[in-house]
Amino acid sequence: MPRVLLLFVDGVGLGATDAGVNPFLVARLPTFDGLLEGVPVAARGAPQHYARSSLVGVDAILGFAGIPQSGTGQAALLTGSNAVEMHGRHFGPWVPSRLRPLVRQESVLARALGAGYTGAFANAYPEEVKELIGGDTDMSRKTATLPSDVPGHVARARRGSTFLRAGPPLAALGAGLLTRHTPELERGEAVASELTNEGWRTGLGRTGVPAIDAVQAGLNLARIASAYDITLFAHYATDYAGHEQDMAVAVRTLEKLDAFLAGLIEGADENLLIVVVSDHGNIEDVRTGHTRNPALGLVVGTGHAGFARRLKSLVDITPAIMDVLAT
Ligand SMILES: [Zn+2]
Repeated sequence: MPRVLLLFVDGVGLGATDAGVNPFLVARLPTFDGLLEGVPVAARGAPQHYARSSLVGVDAILGFAGIPQSGTGQAALLTGSNAVEMHGRHFGPWVPSRLRPLVRQESVLARALGAGYTGAFANAYPEEVKELIGGDTDMSRKTATLPSDVPGHVARARRGSTFLRAGPPLAALGAGLLTRHTPELERGEAVASELTNEGWRTGLGRTGVPAIDAVQAGLNLARIASAYDITLFAHYATDYAGHEQDMAVAVRTLEKLDAFLAGLIEGADENLLIVVVSDHGNIEDVRTGHTRNPALGLVVGTGHAGFARRLKSLVDITPAIMDVLAT
């Protein structure tokens, strides 16, 4: 039976074939080059099919004016519902409060588990989020009732609650899969969203967490994904880098992503379908923040072409994954 890895990368679109604005045409990306046979990651209309992968632009506009945002984009991607239409406009960076129940209850993770498949959320989160979760999944209300006389505790908890307004951890929480913390990261049984554990070691002081390179992070994710029918992992550094509007920062970030993909593909077996998808454009144009460009869709593994052909917009990702699991 096929297994699926949904690798969410924030803020990566298919942009112009112009090395003056698009870091994909500047960065050294041997893994992307191998998958796409040397053709740069950029917009070219129809899906492009190669021997090992397909590249497709995924519509993130969803019928609405304005600039696509993370909250509604991630909700659409993770649930298959047009979250922009439900909210009335593009909204971010967090999933809007009224759409959080949708993401918790109807995500691709919740649906897969409900259908009897096994699933994992590979991201590591600090233990502090467990204090917030308890039996209450309304993070905003929980945050409001935290004691204010324990500053360190509150600061950590509030940071955790902020994380939990993003689409991927909300989906994981709703599916009961927000379960990987410091010990798992130490053992390579979880992956830090920024890949190399720097934030955990320096920002959180978790010095027992090993410093690893992006290739090793990819190998770790491949091993996790080999044990489940569906695995979700989310990487946000691409969107942060896009907001810097700096070619050197964008190039470094894409080269790190490329190394991560190298490890992931090296470690993946032939039954794993790797679906790399974003919520909106950003990093592909260093002149601006978010863009209306099509979001990146890169599908690697057996059946990649047929899967990629289904991905017209963000709402197509979840149903396509559910169908793959059922084959
Ligand atoms: Zn985003």
